[in-house]
Parts: sequence; structure tokens; C-alpha cells
Amino acid sequence: MAGTGVFAEILDGDVFKYYAEGEWKKSSSGKSVPIINPTSRKTQYKVQACTQEEVNKVMDTAKSAQKSWAKTPLWKRAELLHKAAAILKEHKAPIAECLIKEIAKPAKDAVTEVVRSGDLISYCAEEGVRILGEGKFLVSDSFPGNERSKYCLTSKIPLGVILAIPPFNYPVNLAVSKIAPALIAGNSLVLKPPTQGAVAALHMVYCFHLAGFPKGLISCVTGKGSEIGDFLTMHPGVNCISFTGGDTGIAISKKASMIPLQMELGGKDACIVLEDADLDLVAANIVKGGFSYSGQRCTAVKVVLVMESVADTLVGKVNAKVAKLTVGPPEDDCDITPVVSESSANFIEGLVMDAKQKEATFCQEYRREGNLIWPLLLDNVRPDMRIAWEEPFGPVLPVIRINSVEEGIHHCNASNFGLQGCVFTRDINKAMLISDAMETGTVQINSAPARGPDHFPFQGLRDSGIGSQGITNSIGMMTKIKSTVINLPTPSYTMG
Ligand code: NAP
Repeated sequence: MAGTGVFAEILDGDVFKYYAEGEWKKSSSGKSVPIINPTSRKTQYKVQACTQEEVNKVMDTAKSAQKSWAKTPLWKRAELLHKAAAILKEHKAPIAECLIKEIAKPAKDAVTEVVRSGDLISYCAEEGVRILGEGKFLVSDSFPGNERSKYCLTSKIPLGVILAIPPFNYPVNLAVSKIAPALIAGNSLVLKPPTQGAVAALHMVYCFHLAGFPKGLISCVTGKGSEIGDFLTMHPGVNCISFTGGDTGIAISKKASMIPLQMELGGKDACIVLEDADLDLVAANIVKGGFSYSGQRCTAVKVVLVMESVADTLVGKVNAKVAKLTVGPPEDDCDITPVVSESSANFIEGLVMDAKQKEATFCQEYRREGNLIWPLLLDNVRPDMRIAWEEPFGPVLPVIRINSVEEGIHHCNASNFGLQGCVFTRDINKAMLISDAMETGTVQINSAPARGPDHFPFQGLRDSGIGSQGITNSIGMMTKIKSTVINLPTPSYTMG
């Protein structure tokens, strides 16, 4: 059970504490934020509503803790991260339980998220030791007009205090994908977890606490993003923001000061299907890619663009697989579980009703009970329908029939989003040309879009974000280059 056993320290009555200065604390606000279980639609947990004064204190301690952490040998930082990874994996069951209750993640996926997060931390520690242990040596005489009189040594130094804000759908994994690179690079870290997912995140942070990181190096402040978000993101003590979420990220990037921003935002990942594709493979990928975790993944397949000549066959195969999806509570490890909130379900319903009014073909009957929406494939979707462009973040997938590859590429590139895309064809030459033409951060050939393995680069274009993630890139984003130039009195040594 959440907040029991080894985690008992993080619970006070029925409210989970926040983490600052190496201690678990109650907020002086006396207020809490409820976390609604998406399945029961009742309050499951409560977290502290932290105040601005508490944020100020956290930023001060993060700043001073970072100074000595940056001087801690790299191998020691790595050692602590490996320890945190092991503790996290050891406690996967209670953390997974929080994910089931807070965000209705199917039981097996919830465990996978925690284990994958432990692996990410360890990989990051190893990668950090390698890449941060290296620098560059440059000599001046390669630039015109210069003698060999200057030697330049470069290394990577930390940025300072990193503010990490992950979204609800991977509150553990997308938190550690920021925490681990920040720490190995010598930064301190302030985490603002998503409200739905905050309790899983607090348990995860407790594993770092148990690992024995210095006081104040990691903090976790809870509260609604709409209430403390601006104060955090505009705080002068923050030296870098690593954010994953929706359009909120666009607003943050307009308000933030001149600091590095790593923004991983929404997507409308297109799946282009050519006539020669293996349609069984495509159908399997569409169903897994479109409906896993009820479509609440940034890299879910969010629009299928299929050549008209194979569309009937493909839709038939997809429908056969959709019929086999299990629908129900996350505790039963169902394929389709309730979406995160009532407002999210209402938004999805709005997209479905718009498509209905504009006469899309409903391959299944639209069905909803509370936040639970049954999987729905919408065929014959046209560009005048909202679902052709908007991200439902739910188990509803539009199919647009196309008459040329160019039409598919055009639709993909006309989107505000440019996260990932995929193309299915047996012709690798065509696949490469299409990949080049698709304006997205990544194109998958013959597989659905996916974030990971976690050391692969991951980035979006346009409204899908700025900067790049993936372990190596995140370490790079959270450091900057420092040069030391040695100036020699004479350009060369003359032998007598
Ligand atoms: P969201 O509403 O943008 O929230 C993301 C985070 O921002 C949450 O922690 C939220 O806290 C916080 N927040 C809200 N208002 C804020 C403010 N004014 N200042 C600072 N932080 C604020 O997104 P979501 O609904 O959690 O996640 C779904 C979205 O994330 C989708 O669009 C999905 O595509 C995207 N996503 C992208 C990636 C990627 O890597 N590209 C990965 C996963 C998800 P509260 O929960 O307290 O409001």
C-alpha cells in the first residue's frame, strides 16, 4: 500500500509530504490537493499544496547543494545513481500500485514503467561517466593567421539548478529521464510532479532519498501546476527547465527567462501505409501503437494515412484486433482503461461528436462509462474534421484514405505537431525518401512510433518541442562547454 512500510515517512495522516532539504515536510499552507482515481472517480490520495515561500527555500538549498555536488567525483555521483536505481527496482510493486490508482495505468505496464526507469538511471550513470570524463584539446594554428601559440581545453560543466516538470502519463519514467542526467552532470534538481502521478513520483523520490544523496540536492514540491507552475518556471533560481507535457510547454517557453529549455510536447504521429506494406504487421502496430495505455502516449499513432487501394483490407484487419482488446479497470491489466480525468474524457467525446456530425464512418459503436471510453476506429475521416489534426489522448483513432504518398506526407507536414511518424512499405528506397520528406523529429520504418530505447535521441519539431532528449542528449542539454585557453609566450620551442 502507498505510504506504508519503508515509505511510511512520506505520509502524514492522509496527505503525502513534500521533499525539501533532505526532509519530508508538511506545507505551511495547511492545504492539500486531491488526486482523483480515474477509475473510481473518487479521491485516492492527497498531496501538499506548497507555497511560494517553500519554493524559494527549495531553490536556495538547491543552489548551495549544487556547488558541492559539482565537486563530487563523477564516479561517486554514478555510484549513488546506481544505488537509487537498485532501490527503485526493489520497490517496484508499491510504486506501480500508485500508477494504477492515480493514472489508471494497466498493472503490467505500471511495473514496466518503474523497472525501465531503474534501467534508465543506471544507463545514465554509465554514459555520464564516459562522456563527462572526456573533453577536447584544440590548437590555434588550424585557424588562418594563427601561430601554434594557444591551446584550448574544453570540458562540460553543469548548468546549476534544473527544474523538472513531467506529465501525468509517465510520472516516474519521465521524471527520472530528467533527474538522472541532471545529477550525473553535477546539477541539482527540483521536481514538480504532475498532480495525477504525484504520489508515484514521491515514492520514486524517496528511493533517491534512501540512496543517500546530499541534502537539498533533490527536492520535490507538489501542488497544482496552474497555481505554482508560473512561480516555479519564472523563478530566478532556475538555470534550466526540462518539461514534458502538452501546450503548457509553449506558454512556459514564452514566459521563461534566458535559460536552456528542453521541451517535449504533444504529437499527432502519422502512420503512412503504402500498397506494398505487410498489412498484418501494419494492423498489429496500429493497434499497439494507437491503443496502448488507451492512446495516452505522446508517440501513440494518432492518424492513419492509408492508400485507398489497401484501405478496406487494412481497416478490416485493424477492426478484428480492436474487437479483441479488453476494456476495464487497470487492476485487471485491461488493454483499455479509463482515461486520466473527466475533462479529458469530455474532450475526447467532443472530437468524436464532431467526426460524427461530419459523417466519419464509425467502425465500432461509441461507448463511454465515466472516464472509460471503448476503443474506436473512425474511417473515412476528412481534413475538415477536428480529429484529423487534434491530439485526442484517448482510445480513438482516425483513418484518412489517401490517393498518393505526397498526400500523406502533406498531411503529416501540415500538422502543428512534428514529434514522430512512421511509414510501412517493403521498399526501403521509398521508405528512406518518405522519411526524408516527413518533417518530424523521428520517423520509424515498419514499426509504430515509440520513445525509446531510452538512449535513442528523442525530439519534436514545431509545436512538439525544442531541444532533444535521450540519455546522451539530455546530459548534453544539462551541461555547457567551458574552455580554458593556455597562451604560450612563443609559438614554438627553438632547439639550440
Ligand atoms: P500538461 O497538462 O501540459 O501538464 C504537464 C505538466 O505541467 C504537469 O506536471 C502539470 O502539472 C504541469 N503544469 C500545468 N500548468 C503549469 C504551469 N502553468 N506551469 C508549469 N507547469 C504546469 O500535460 P499532461 O496532460 O500532463 O500530459 C499530456 C501531454 O503531454 C500530451 O500532449 C502528450 O502528448 C504530452 N507528452 C509529450 C511527451 C514527449 O516526450 N513529447 C511525452 C509524454 C507526454 P499539474 O498536473 O499539476 O497540472
